Amino acid sequence: MTEPLLLTPGPTPIQPDAQAALHKPMLGHMDPQVFELNARIQRNLRRMYGAAEGAFTALAAGTGSLGMEAGFANLLEPGDEIVVCTNGEFGERMAEMSERYGARVTRIYAEPGRAVDLEEVRAALASEPKLVAVVHGETSTGVINPAPEIARAAFGRTLVTVDAVTTAGMMEFCMDEWGVDYAYTGSQKCLSAPPGVAPIAVSARALEAVRARKTPVSLWYCDFEGMQAYWDRRQYHHTVPVQLHYALDAALQAALDEGLEARARRTITLNAAVAEALLPLGFSHFVENPRDRLPTVLALRLPAGLEDAPLRAALRERGISITGGLGATAGKIWRLGLMGEAARPEHYRRLFRELAVLLGARDLEERFEARLAGCALSH
Ligand SMILES: *Cc1c(COP(=O)(O)O)cnc(C)c1O
Repeated sequence: MTEPLLLTPGPTPIQPDAQAALHKPMLGHMDPQVFELNARIQRNLRRMYGAAEGAFTALAAGTGSLGMEAGFANLLEPGDEIVVCTNGEFGERMAEMSERYGARVTRIYAEPGRAVDLEEVRAALASEPKLVAVVHGETSTGVINPAPEIARAAFGRTLVTVDAVTTAGMMEFCMDEWGVDYAYTGSQKCLSAPPGVAPIAVSARALEAVRARKTPVSLWYCDFEGMQAYWDRRQYHHTVPVQLHYALDAALQAALDEGLEARARRTITLNAAVAEALLPLGFSHFVENPRDRLPTVLALRLPAGLEDAPLRAALRERGISITGGLGATAGKIWRLGLMGEAARPEHYRRLFRELAVLLGARDLEERFEARLAGCALSH
């Protein structure tokens, strides 16, 4: 059997140490060894997010969407005002969740393929809403939004939630320095652990805002104060998925050992080489402004005449999964994942070997190798 290869924008191939950690024997969620493991995860998450000492870090027992929902559930009360930046699927998901928690939502739109406009966000912040929310890297379109600038603009007046799912652990993320109050990701994206836990970070300011609520948090499972009882005070709250903690811990440690700057370089360099190999075949960047391109998700328009579904089906028969567009971009774009373990030259070598045959494009591999040789990234 051909080995499956995930080049999707999540999930990503599992990091080897994380895969091995899944075989550790079961321990109870109240075992002292598990509390030690949790404490290391909390310390390492603080490093990954660039969070301050007073920030609360933890894993929510669910996927990235639970991390997203936990933020709105804790930081919004019915009637609160929120500004949500929406330029794709995940920004819209944020707006929908905020509405379900009873907030009054102002959307700042940008067309898919464009970043949200900082000046428009600044203008919306003039009314001092409770919260502003932005997706740092919009996976559905391959766009990076100006999250640090938005956080700085809101600082001191409005709390800031940043979806760091496609950035934290792979790209620079400076929660404290930028003034971010809540950030989350999913274990299966940039860290390449199995799906099922959402690493979160909550600033001291945000914890203060939760304590000052007039109404209880309606999502009991992820009430930050309940999560703190378990993670900080070692009291029972709910049974955590210990095996997933082991795996996440191993993947996170490996990411920090590699170094976050080295990981960012790896994804940026590989992104450029992959694009350079494909553009001469008639692919073109979906995100027109180079400044707005997200390094961890390369979104490319397909060449005229190339049929999306049959080609991706042929690749899947050869074990390789890549992702097409969503909604309006379905059938028109490909989204190539460059998060975590997906961002390895050998994986793209394998894709290009198959694509060269399927498309009759022999020089594809040569272009890729030539570009990689020029930037000292060969494995
Ligand atoms: C994948 C993703 C999510 C949701 O994560 P799930 O693990 O699928 O629940 C949220 N935001 C962004 C930007 C994502 O890429």
